[in-house]
Amino acid sequence: MPENQNLLYRALPSMSVLLNCITNAGYHADEPWAAPCLSSLADVPRTLLRESVENFLDNCRIAIREGEITDSSLLSLPALLPDLVEYAIRRTSPSLRRVLNATGIIIHTNLGRSRLAEEAVTAVAEAARYPSNLEFDLQKGTRGSRHSHVASLICRMTGAQAALAVNNNAAAVLLVLDTLCRDREVIVSRGELVEIGGNFRIPDVIKKSGCLLREVGTTNRTHLSDFRLALSEHTGAILKVHTSNYRIIGFTQEAGRAELAALANSASLPFIEDLGSGVLVDLAAQGFPHLGAEPAVAKVIADGADIVTFSGDKVLGGPQAGIIAGKLKYIEQIAKNPLLRALRMDKLNLAALEATLRLYLEPTLARTRIPTLRMMTTTADELLPRARKLARLLKKTLPAQKDGWLVAVRSGISQVGGGAFPEMNLPTWLTTMAHPSPHFNPAHLQKMLLQTKPPLLARVEDNALRLDLRTLDDREIPLAAAVLAQTAAPMFKPPCAGASKY
Ligand SMILES: *Cc1c(COP(=O)(O)O)cnc(C)c1O
Repeated sequence: MPENQNLLYRALPSMSVLLNCITNAGYHADEPWAAPCLSSLADVPRTLLRESVENFLDNCRIAIREGEITDSSLLSLPALLPDLVEYAIRRTSPSLRRVLNATGIIIHTNLGRSRLAEEAVTAVAEAARYPSNLEFDLQKGTRGSRHSHVASLICRMTGAQAALAVNNNAAAVLLVLDTLCRDREVIVSRGELVEIGGNFRIPDVIKKSGCLLREVGTTNRTHLSDFRLALSEHTGAILKVHTSNYRIIGFTQEAGRAELAALANSASLPFIEDLGSGVLVDLAAQGFPHLGAEPAVAKVIADGADIVTFSGDKVLGGPQAGIIAGKLKYIEQIAKNPLLRALRMDKLNLAALEATLRLYLEPTLARTRIPTLRMMTTTADELLPRARKLARLLKKTLPAQKDGWLVAVRSGISQVGGGAFPEMNLPTWLTTMAHPSPHFNPAHLQKMLLQTKPPLLARVEDNALRLDLRTLDDREIPLAAAVLAQTAAPMFKPPCAGASKY
């Protein structure tokens, strides 16, 4: 081992010194690195901190061995501590964290889909903090059903005779098929045998629920007669599936809902429709004609669907849930399935779902209070001041003449996401960031923003970072501006006099 490497190893501060420094950050409060340390490491369990310091020291030893550190001044306490603090914060932060969504995708499955309305957030906190009548009938003073809290609200919104809510829509589909069609055939149009994402494939769910898939028609065209010819004594149901983020266009044909329902009923079978998103309010009637493209659940039920299923956290704008609504005789059977116990909702999501559904009692309240619906119905004109505000804040901290950053406001397109309204483009306003340096790579900036506190997700297009204000609310704009400025500012040193490469 080279002599100076030996010296370097010995120059490394000890475990106990480093641990002491970062756990007693107050002692170093006058050091610049101590500030983030004080706020971010104060509540971290000591065992986690110790692990972080151990790993950090291991990394230093590797860096010495590999010849990356050759100067002992790099191993002094003041030199190491800022890196150690950053490393420890990164390693010990909770895994599930808040992020800023500047993608313009409203129902972003990877970002937790719908945000809850404040009313729902309050209801969740209350249900979490105190005991509740989750399964207790306060009228009778006896055991009650957790399913009672949302059933009548769902019936009101959909016109269904009865309803049930379970863990998510995948569970809803599984439970419905398992109850009504086990060991029998489920007839589905070939064009609807889709994969929704996250491995939810209709043929697999049918198989898992113990049913036999009977596909009919062709990929692009399926006629009512295809269904009629497939009916037999083995049939359990006719299933229609919303193809979500997938469309067949051109020479197409599908059997109508009312005809399918009539056909199924003539054979005393249920007609089931998996709607995916499920719209509870007529947004076209509220002055948003383009949002009338998806039929409301009430219309689907009025058209004859015996059972519909849809998600709680897509267009409905509530928590993760799967809603099953339809004819009483089927819902009664489903409610008796022992599988329901495994697929039931938890009390926090139930509280959120009830609070969200209550907002629908007043359609305009639903549209303005439920973030998903609010974001869907915000017009581009309303978004322009927000995009300008973000641009203004960015220009203030990243002055163009000093740092060279080009901040602008541009029109663009947002998307609903979650498989709903797949072809709909919502006009929006974006704040864009670019830099004339040949070294500027917006994808690099995009990646660095995943490490900020909180992380920020944005799109990259036309060699610029694009921030869609549709999915950032007013209160998030200063925070977004702060993490953007903090990340962008050090990327390009200000041009030196006479040696500018810009
Ligand atoms: C999203 C979706 C599902 C799955 O719903 P989850 O609530 O995510 O379980 C099932 N079917 C369709 C058509 C969907 O769009």
